[in-house]
Amino acid sequence: MGNPRESELHYPLGETLPAPGEALDLAPGVRWVRMGLPFALDHINLWLLRDRIDGREGWTIVDCGIASDDTRANWEKVFAERLDGLPVLRVMATHFHPDHLGLAHWLTERWGCRLWVSATDFNLARLASSSTVGMGGASAAAFFGSHGLTDPDSLDKIRARADYYPKMVPVVPAAYRRLMDGTEVEIGGRSWRCIAGYGHAPEHISLFCEEAKLLISGDMVLPRISTNVSVVDVEPEADPLTLYLQSLTRYLDLPADTLVLPSHGKPFTGLHQRIDQLREHHDERLAEVAAACRTEPTHAAGLLGVLFKRKLDLHQTTFAMGEAIAHLHALWLQGGLKRMRGDDGVYRFSAAD
Ligand SMILES: [Zn+2]
Repeated sequence: MGNPRESELHYPLGETLPAPGEALDLAPGVRWVRMGLPFALDHINLWLLRDRIDGREGWTIVDCGIASDDTRANWEKVFAERLDGLPVLRVMATHFHPDHLGLAHWLTERWGCRLWVSATDFNLARLASSSTVGMGGASAAAFFGSHGLTDPDSLDKIRARADYYPKMVPVVPAAYRRLMDGTEVEIGGRSWRCIAGYGHAPEHISLFCEEAKLLISGDMVLPRISTNVSVVDVEPEADPLTLYLQSLTRYLDLPADTLVLPSHGKPFTGLHQRIDQLREHHDERLAEVAAACRTEPTHAAGLLGVLFKRKLDLHQTTFAMGEAIAHLHALWLQGGLKRMRGDDGVYRFSAAD
């Protein structure tokens, strides 16, 4: 969904983008790499940070891209042309999603270096890459069915999509180094502080460098689209929207003129405005959901037309269902709505007594 208040943000590089396989200088020792993705969201930004570890000069990579021949070829081009002849010394992942962690195994093998990531996301990536837990398949179809998605064709496709995660993340490194909220990581002589965020991934890590006033925001703060916040079948009563909105307040402590390096879109300033916009966006969606549920008991599938005023493909429908359930759960678990399960097995939400 677009950002109607995008003009309040500032893009210091204008329309400049790195082509695939290139790396654009952003700040001293910081380079911007952009890789393609096979989704409606067609790219991810990855970052190169000049580093020195155990007495060796080289680079830290933040986020990896999905496991595909294209992405590997573009990385090879970056390695050949844009590392100044130095090795990669460390790979970091902001969270476990395939576009961020997909090539972590290949990169760490290729360079004989360590993956740094939160423990929660590391363990979930290991599980998801070796099984079908929570990433499509029968349990996802049953979960969406219990929230009113009845179209047999969509449910069949969701059932058939059990290999969604392993396809893009075939292997996860067997060992890692743990990032936690507040961890200070020294990168190239500068300190970067980890900020844990919730609601998008189990334990998403953003990195903030006070000295350079740079925030690698991952997927927690994006300039144009709102971060996906979804309930999924592994944790069917979750309240990720409340967690996400609470997490956003953490970024308000950072300087207003911080340059934000997001995973999707372009580097921007206007962090505090963006947080205000995201809060407003979700407040409006919550109000729409509450109004619909006050009119009549409503299930999540019944909200798709209210929340997403456009035609959705299957991939978008599963995201949209997750988002609709997240808004219902925020209201339900805060006491604004009550939940009832009908004879048809579907959860409907209505005004609390
Ligand atoms: Zn993500």
